[in-house]
Amino acid sequence: MKKINCAIIGQGGAGGINYPQRRRDGLIKAVSVGYGILMQNGSSLDVVEKAVEILENTTVFNAGTGSALNLKGEAEMDASIMTNKLGFGAVAAIKNVKNPIKVARLVMEKTDHLLLCAEGAIKFARSMGIKYYNTKTKEKERVWKRKRKNLKSAYFKKLNKLIDLYETVSIVAIDKNGLICVGISTGGITLRLPGRIGDTPIIGTGIYADKNGVVSATGHGEEIMRHMIAFRAVSLMVRYPAQTAGKKVIDYATKNGCKCGLIGIDKKGRILCANNTKSMSWCYIKNGKMELFKY
Ligand code: ASP
Repeated sequence: MKKINCAIIGQGGAGGINYPQRRRDGLIKAVSVGYGILMQNGSSLDVVEKAVEILENTTVFNAGTGSALNLKGEAEMDASIMTNKLGFGAVAAIKNVKNPIKVARLVMEKTDHLLLCAEGAIKFARSMGIKYYNTKTKEKERVWKRKRKNLKSAYFKKLNKLIDLYETVSIVAIDKNGLICVGISTGGITLRLPGRIGDTPIIGTGIYADKNGVVSATGHGEEIMRHMIAFRAVSLMVRYPAQTAGKKVIDYATKNGCKCGLIGIDKKGRILCANNTKSMSWCYIKNGKMELFKY
């Protein structure tokens, strides 16, 4: 059997990059810890869960602690995890858990379902021993207050104009056995309506994986969902290497007014990293060598 080279890539959102140094530090930590586990023959599933957890615990990102707040000032979060063997688990609009990615994995491994949302997801998490945790931070409350002031009354029309940052986190990794896994977690978009669910936990849109490769997307969730961005990119991996497949989808997204960034890995371990937003923060390690976004 052909030797498989392990690789890991992480991203911390597309759009403008504020606090680049903090993002850089968070991504380096997550990806390095993940690569260390891969080097000890760890499974990409464990790697993805652990590395996404690190990003969720890094408050500069919009996931876990420091998640963006909705119109009511609540942190409802979305997360999902998927493998190239079609394992999938997700939670949507979940509140008061420290690491939504952990709950998503539990949905995949402990239930017959793919997606749990809101109160049901919280109850399930508690039944699995996940304790109450308040993910709100002062920093994100300040952002919420500032944006809330500009909102006045025409909520729907103005929401899209207020979005200048997409800060969802995700990790993709391939292990020595060729298992490729993707995990993604987000606090969604600031000032969204309570109950809004974005692309992150919806299979085929913000996340997809099959035997050809795996992809996660960040960006404007409603447009990513409309255009099934992650599924599109993975489908193209049947014929093209990861980066070419991703670039084609980014061109398509640009033509269709969908702002997004993608990361992924195909079955040969080739990496995808592409975006049509102002910038994207990312970091990967392949063959022991780290590459990092510039700012
Ligand atoms: N895609 C996410 C959402 O719309 C936002 C992001 O990527 O930061 O919920």
